[in-house]
Amino acid sequence: MLPNFFDSMVQLITRTSTDLPPDVRAAMGTALATEAPQTRAGQALTIIAQNIDQAESCEGPICQDTGMPTFEIKVPVGANQIWMKQQIRNAIAEATRRGKLRPNSVDSITGENSGDNLGPGTPIVHFEQWEKNEIEVKLILKGGGCENTNAQYALPTDLDHLGRADRTLDGVRKCILHAVWKAQGKGCSPGAVGVCVGGDRTSGYLHAKEQLFRTLDDTNPDPRLAAIEDAVMDAANQLTVGPMGFGGKASLIGCKIGALNRLPASFFVSVAYDCWAFRRLGVTLDAQSGAIASWLYRDADRRSTPMLTPEQLAAGFPRTGREIRLEAPISEAQIRSLKVGDVVLVSGKMFTGRDAVHAHLMKHDPPVDLHGAVLYHCGPVVVKEGDGTWRITAAGPTTSIREEPYQAEILRRYGVRIVIGKGGMGAKTLAGLKESGAVYLNGVGGAAQFYARCISRVTGVSLLEFGTPEAMWHLEVADFPAIVTMDAHGNSLHKDIEAESGERLHTVGG
Ligand code: SF4
Repeated sequence: MLPNFFDSMVQLITRTSTDLPPDVRAAMGTALATEAPQTRAGQALTIIAQNIDQAESCEGPICQDTGMPTFEIKVPVGANQIWMKQQIRNAIAEATRRGKLRPNSVDSITGENSGDNLGPGTPIVHFEQWEKNEIEVKLILKGGGCENTNAQYALPTDLDHLGRADRTLDGVRKCILHAVWKAQGKGCSPGAVGVCVGGDRTSGYLHAKEQLFRTLDDTNPDPRLAAIEDAVMDAANQLTVGPMGFGGKASLIGCKIGALNRLPASFFVSVAYDCWAFRRLGVTLDAQSGAIASWLYRDADRRSTPMLTPEQLAAGFPRTGREIRLEAPISEAQIRSLKVGDVVLVSGKMFTGRDAVHAHLMKHDPPVDLHGAVLYHCGPVVVKEGDGTWRITAAGPTTSIREEPYQAEILRRYGVRIVIGKGGMGAKTLAGLKESGAVYLNGVGGAAQFYARCISRVTGVSLLEFGTPEAMWHLEVADFPAIVTMDAHGNSLHKDIEAESGERLHTVGG
């Protein structure tokens, strides 16, 4: 029975996680060209470009959040789908063991991580039969940060800055623009949106996600939808949300719209937002052996080309000479001297902590002294070496807003001076930073390979019982770059960009 099927699936998963497809590289290359290199946006995109090339060359995950694996499979009539699904599950476990996927499947009741990316609902596998005598397998890895920015609208509705969205294609256009604006940098912009017009709440989201299997540069066969796609791309890239929500010209790299019939009483617009780390690939397989016959999205005409020249890659991110060096532990005076927009290079000790650690610290003392410390919102991919030591293979920042209910209290209680994450935080944390003398630094979301190279060593780990992504890792870092986006004086770049882009939304989208 299909002796090569398992190996083909491991290859597909590995390559999807580590090697961005040519159409996404081309779109990111265009985005890079639109931003001046020494702006915040330009620096962020250069780090992303380096990260893409680094991931491919070391076959490491492009982003540490390797997402929810979703397979769309077409099989000849009579193919054994039960067996294939089991082989896919085995391949997912194997790719996780090899560090190509982060253990990402968590029991929703107990919070326990299964450790192998298997569990009820994980991975997602959809089969469809077709008349061809070959198998087609497409895979998308879509992470939590962008998944959390998905949006669904029931028309008619009133939208901030855009007014009423009616049950028309213009109403659809407004909803998509609203979703892009609302996402700001939280989904690691510049991203792409898959959209479904119609369906019900469930089929709408599914069809929206399926649009992400289209190449970013294709043309919608329905001219009415093609026109909306163009209009959204044009307006979205005038919003000045920019890469990571830092401000800039590149906010969206793709808009793909499909439509399903709906009930007369319902009119949903479902938006699936995917980040710049748009990991989607596919293969066709020989129906007798299961061996890979061809790769989708990367055929002979569309070879993967590096984002940067070897010299650009070696040069690192473009420094301006104004970067501020900080070494942990950090004093309150150093923190109060920083202001929004400063680019800092952090060295010394750093501790990771995300959802489970923050909830834990609300009820228990920290396992380490956090006075003057740097707390990194990060769930890394970690591999245990044969000699028992730990190696971090991917370590970009995770979405910080999830820690909003806890962050200010943790700053106050334990003396943390720097919080690093992505997407920014809210008013409660902003007030907490001012009160406690701390800053929030925005890293470049998804730049997991780039940041893994800033980690000189892992010196320890606490709370490993939460699973490797949720544990508190003790790291030594050198020249870890990030931007002050919330300072200790009540200023927030996120708040400013949201307000400015809201005004632009009114102008270009209304
Ligand atoms: S690039 Fe950002 S949004 Fe995308 S998976 Fe990574 S952390 Fe999540």
